[in-house]
Amino acid sequence: MKEIQNNIIKELKNRIELSEKPLIITHYNPDGDAIGSILAFYHYLVKKGKNPFMVSPNDYPEFLHWMPGNENVTVYKRNTGTVTNAIRDADLIIALDFNNFERTEGLEKYLNESKAVKVMIDHHPDPSDFADIAISDIQYSSTAEMVYHVIESLGDEDLIDKNIAECIYCGIMTDTGSFNYNSSNPYTYLVVSKLVGFGIDKDRIYWNVYDNFSADRMRLLGYCLHKKMEVFPEYHAAIISITKDELKEFNFAPGDSEGFVNLPLSIKNIRFTAIFIERDKQIKISFRSKGNFSVNKFAEENFNGGGHKNASGGYSYVSLDETLKKFRELLPKYQTELQNAL
Ligand code: 5GP
Ligand code: MN
Repeated sequence: MKEIQNNIIKELKNRIELSEKPLIITHYNPDGDAIGSILAFYHYLVKKGKNPFMVSPNDYPEFLHWMPGNENVTVYKRNTGTVTNAIRDADLIIALDFNNFERTEGLEKYLNESKAVKVMIDHHPDPSDFADIAISDIQYSSTAEMVYHVIESLGDEDLIDKNIAECIYCGIMTDTGSFNYNSSNPYTYLVVSKLVGFGIDKDRIYWNVYDNFSADRMRLLGYCLHKKMEVFPEYHAAIISITKDELKEFNFAPGDSEGFVNLPLSIKNIRFTAIFIERDKQIKISFRSKGNFSVNKFAEENFNGGGHKNASGGYSYVSLDETLKKFRELLPKYQTELQNAL
């Protein structure tokens, strides 16, 4: 694994030592890696004698609430004044699992105006230049794995404990689909081996995240696969779409559609999938792929988004029907690329 440059680590160490008001923040709609990373870094800073303020831009699914320290996360959407004040007062801002302030969906103005020293720890491509201290590397499975590496590089591996290990493990597990993708780097397993050594209960972590769904969610999943999946064999693609009315019918709760987008990839010869979810003012889209088809490029070129090569997302601002029509019409343009992806 690429070492983090010495001068960057020195600067980070120094800034952490000097900081009286550190703030840790992640992206909108945080996933397991986002929450696992901020909590792991939170516990680390507490062990360094700090009192960090943790921010999530919006609420996140209940299956992430079990992680130690979760009760100390402040959700911006429900505490706007508290969070903007904390950003204004912070002297060190640590941004985890995103590389562009726009991913906070509403806090970019406050973050840009803040005089704090800004740190980025992230594994997405194409970082923006907001950070004074940028640790950005797409080779890592997850930001949580990077947090381990950063703590190790800061010479503080001995401060890692079971709480930190559980949060980091959750980040790695969720961002790799339980070691299914993004996990071909041997370093990931070195870290996991050490985490397991802290006595974490990895089976329980799996149950907490993946076996914690409501009956409504399972019924929505069945409905989507039976009635709402469209397969395009000639393009090796399959999609699912969900309307606002359908969300209501199945008492949709945040996180209920988590993982749906991956499922059609289990169909033989399917290597490109998308899910379209109708929201109040836009359509939120997630893309997944196998092999060389770059869904971040696809999202960027066509749907105002981005992300990783095999997992990306974006938005559409026309109706769901028009969005689906646009998607279907785009497929022929990518036929050759899709054919050669595997
Ligand atoms: P998900 O489909 O799980 O929401 O997102 C998968 C990945 O795509 C995320 O890790 C994130 O990197 C990226 N992503 C999702 N939505 C967006 C978006 O609207 N813009 C950008 N730039 N990336 C996104
Ligand atoms: Mn991540």
